Amino acid sequence: MPLVPRSTPETNVQLSGAALKPDTVLSVVSSSWPVCRNKQLLREGRGTVFAKIEGSRSRNESRVLLKTLTLALSSGPSMAEKIEAPITKYNMRITCDVDVCNRLLPSFNISSIGKPSRTQISVGKKTGGVSKVDDVYLMLCTKQDRNGAKYKLKGNIEKFFTKYVAEGKATIRFKNPPHDVCISKADPIQLKGLLRILVMGCKGEGLEKVTLSILTPASTKQVEKLKTTLTITSRRDYPLTTNFPSGLKTLTIHQCSLKKVDSRILQLRHLTKLDLSHNHLQDLPENFAGVPLLAELVLSDNQIAVIPRAFCISSLSESLTHLDLSKNRLQLLKPYFCKLRNLITLKLDYNELVVLPSGIGKLCQLSYLTAANNHLKTLPVGFTSLKLSHLDLDSNEFLETGPDTAINRLSVPNLIECCARTIAKQRIPFTQNDVGPLYDYLTTRRLCLCGGYSFQSHVHYLTSVDLRRVTTTGMAVDSSGRMCVPCEAFLCSQACFERYKKNPYATMWK
Ligand SMILES: [Zn+2]
Repeated sequence: MPLVPRSTPETNVQLSGAALKPDTVLSVVSSSWPVCRNKQLLREGRGTVFAKIEGSRSRNESRVLLKTLTLALSSGPSMAEKIEAPITKYNMRITCDVDVCNRLLPSFNISSIGKPSRTQISVGKKTGGVSKVDDVYLMLCTKQDRNGAKYKLKGNIEKFFTKYVAEGKATIRFKNPPHDVCISKADPIQLKGLLRILVMGCKGEGLEKVTLSILTPASTKQVEKLKTTLTITSRRDYPLTTNFPSGLKTLTIHQCSLKKVDSRILQLRHLTKLDLSHNHLQDLPENFAGVPLLAELVLSDNQIAVIPRAFCISSLSESLTHLDLSKNRLQLLKPYFCKLRNLITLKLDYNELVVLPSGIGKLCQLSYLTAANNHLKTLPVGFTSLKLSHLDLDSNEFLETGPDTAINRLSVPNLIECCARTIAKQRIPFTQNDVGPLYDYLTTRRLCLCGGYSFQSHVHYLTSVDLRRVTTTGMAVDSSGRMCVPCEAFLCSQACFERYKKNPYATMWK
């Protein structure tokens, strides 16, 4: 969408054709709040928003703000007509973690740092009286105190600390009693809705727009500790009408005949371990942005045949450390699989793999690798760079090892090969449409130890490697105790060939 910064100190930002989600506009308002002296956010015509920022602002500051606006607006799928809607949306009640600090305690040499407890925060009237403004209170109900502590709102809030509101955190400083109410683990959207009404309550203005009810004690369920672990082992227990608890860190779903990963699971922001083994999964979702902390993914005993590229380059490439893909239908793991570069444990047993992904040597954190009961015939070059604490390659179809063999196919690379090598080496992103017939050619690329790629012109070198050089505790690949297996390299030049021949246990040279 076009952004038109005109000049500083006054900058007009035009975001035309913006598709806006209700909340995005609000985040624009709040993100610009600390830096704008005077701000107007107007809606002009269909789908056009003007954010006018006035005052002495440096060009850099404006750029930062423009970036924030672009980011916020580019994520909104719904119509611009809804812009006004969120501003009248208020949250009278939210559940979150709250720690109440008494500011006077440190002066008596008593630490004011407590432990946050699950709390229901509500805003409402103390009595059924007519007077609205003077009777509005904030109430904190916990499991220990379900009747709740009440704080008068009008003129009683000294300050709001909202820097981390997008992470679900905020602090409300009350004047009397001198308490700081520190909120955490709240839904950021709900928290914003609550803070908005607290501002109105403190000023005593605008409350006629909202309906305030009489404060009532919270139920036990409302102040229950956040559930962080959930195990479902039958279809009967699978939540269809209710949501998964939002604070889940570990989720296990077995024997539920799942064919797809439920999109609601991919919204669980705190999830670190997901076990979906013993289901009927065929495809993997591509977008894992909603589970940025996911470190352990167990997908064994499903029907997965392909690992999509988007899966490997998603946020999982940073977060994932344990991946179990055993008992699936994998035949090939493409080179991009090794983008999951933080893997420590990788289980690939009982699949139909013929080779391991080339570039597996790049997984420098990998320590536990099992690929028993596949159809592996050779190991890829770079495998010997691994330093494993456990390795199991039992029951595969490894070729007999003999003297090293080299098939030299080196020739002057033709124009197509030169082009493909450059695209591969420079990591130029491409799609089938961009490169046309070159696409198939590019997908046959093979990694050389120098970090370059080879296509038709290469030396095919087969050598025997001893698995004891890779791991001290590895198991033999068959019942005869065999520990030597063939390793297959495709070297891109004579120089790389000579270098490899001298030391086949070389790690990646780059
Ligand atoms: Zn090379």
